[in-house]
Amino acid sequence: MEMAALKAALSDQARRLGFAACGVTSVRPFTEARGRALAAIDAGRMDGMPWYTRDRVEASADIGGRYPWARCIVALAWPYHPASAQTSSGDTDGTIRGRFSAYACTEDGGDAVDYHDLLAQRCDALVDWLGGKTEGVRAKRFVDHGWALDRAIAERAGIGFAGKHASVITLAAGSYVLLAAIALSIALPVDAPSQRGCGRCTACLPSCPTGAIVAPGVIDARRCISYLTIEHRGSIPNELRPMMGTWAFGCDLCQEACPINHRLAPLPLAVGAATTARGPVPHPDLAECLELTDAEFTARFRGTAVSRTGRAGLARNCAIALGNAGDRAALPALQRSAELDPDAVVREAARWGIAQLTG
Ligand code: SF4
Ligand code: SF4
Repeated sequence: MEMAALKAALSDQARRLGFAACGVTSVRPFTEARGRALAAIDAGRMDGMPWYTRDRVEASADIGGRYPWARCIVALAWPYHPASAQTSSGDTDGTIRGRFSAYACTEDGGDAVDYHDLLAQRCDALVDWLGGKTEGVRAKRFVDHGWALDRAIAERAGIGFAGKHASVITLAAGSYVLLAAIALSIALPVDAPSQRGCGRCTACLPSCPTGAIVAPGVIDARRCISYLTIEHRGSIPNELRPMMGTWAFGCDLCQEACPINHRLAPLPLAVGAATTARGPVPHPDLAECLELTDAEFTARFRGTAVSRTGRAGLARNCAIALGNAGDRAALPALQRSAELDPDAVVREAARWGIAQLTG
């Protein structure tokens, strides 16, 4: 099949598999993105993420150098449903609900899944399909934790542009997308980078409660609730805790402020049941998540993005969120955790939560 026709067919197949956008770019090094990433490391904005190293950035910026057989990179965006921003579901049973980032609530056929696994499966299905069209094609996929600058790839492949909140905004589904990329050994025609941008809009900048968006498109990870609740290990700095609201895993506030998302995003997820036997819900029961045992945490969140925090990480986040929720009905659960939780970081966070509620 001729390369332009193959590319069009690949794009159609990607959409059939559920991707919202598909574009192609060259394997030329991503020099600008490399420079930005190294500057972020040098400025300390990535402190606390020891895996985000200079070597990783160098390698990620030069996929063609690492995989000399690669001739192009396919950029893909998988849409997910945003959560309803409401903080209360109208529960009448006193449940105190927090927030999980919507991407963590990714489902596949009704089952909670880790989006890494979901995207990897869909990318592999796309490569299998391609193998049926072109014999001997080599491929290497990258899904979030792979070594690739996925946002730079998406931009250069024209499937979206970087918003001032630093997430990629696609024309198909706004910024509520998960990115993936596949390096291929065939030279598909490349797309032009997106010429769009945020224009004069600045709506996301004041929406960030911790001031983590330090300049348009520049995030200080050390202040970002997403980083603090997911990546950060140990105690969360006291001065940031009151600004974290009721987020127990991730944060979607800058995305929820974006007018482009309001226009393009799919319908929001339901609030979610107060108690779910399996998987994350957008508005979890904070007291219940605070007191999960290791076995209960594993049974609930195994195979989902929330498993990344570990039981103690989630409990720490929930203790802070309960302190911020301002509902003294949380005191018994916080007091039990302050005394009985096996993890010292959780016990301290619970004491902080109690102090918030009791003045
Ligand atoms: S995810 Fe939340 S904390 Fe992080 S930059 Fe966006 S609004 Fe700020
Ligand atoms: S809120 Fe406005 S400035 Fe921020 S990403 Fe969306 S369009 Fe860009």
